[in-house]
Amino acid sequence: METITHNLVAVVIQILCFSFLIFPWNLIFTIVFSFISHIIVDAISIITYHTPDVQKGDKFWIFWHYIIYVLSLSSIIVFIIPYWLSMLFANIMDLWDWLTLRPIQKKIRKKTPESKWGDKYYFHRIVDWVREKLFFWLPKRNYKKSGILIEIVLIIVFILYIGFLGGFAHFF
Ligand SMILES: [Zn+2]
Repeated sequence: METITHNLVAVVIQILCFSFLIFPWNLIFTIVFSFISHIIVDAISIITYHTPDVQKGDKFWIFWHYIIYVLSLSSIIVFIIPYWLSMLFANIMDLWDWLTLRPIQKKIRKKTPESKWGDKYYFHRIVDWVREKLFFWLPKRNYKKSGILIEIVLIIVFILYIGFLGGFAHFF
């Protein structure tokens, strides 16, 4: 799913771990659960609008992603202190696959288009595996534009839950 959704899940994980566990388990479980949360959240993202590739010509796609970028950036600004740890680990798979591995692969493929270098280092292969094994029963709606409604509802529910948990307390 989108960075904003990963961030909100991460914040909830850190709040719960720090409420119920003592040092060092609060840190350890925050890291472990945040990392795993990316796999689960991405695996079920098949029910939300989530095209595997960029749809440059599609105004709706561009509009939705513009909103997502603004929301994601805002969520980082709002939560980075004190939730940077869980947010970092909840996004590490995207940081590696999309911002590191993919650009390197692109460069290599410019020279040797048939190169398969790096294919096996993608974290999202784990996501695909988990989706096939555990979430195969979910309806595939990743090309359905109405799928954004599911993600919007999820985002609102998580924001409310974070408020309920006192996750905005660092502002007051
Ligand atoms: Zn991802």
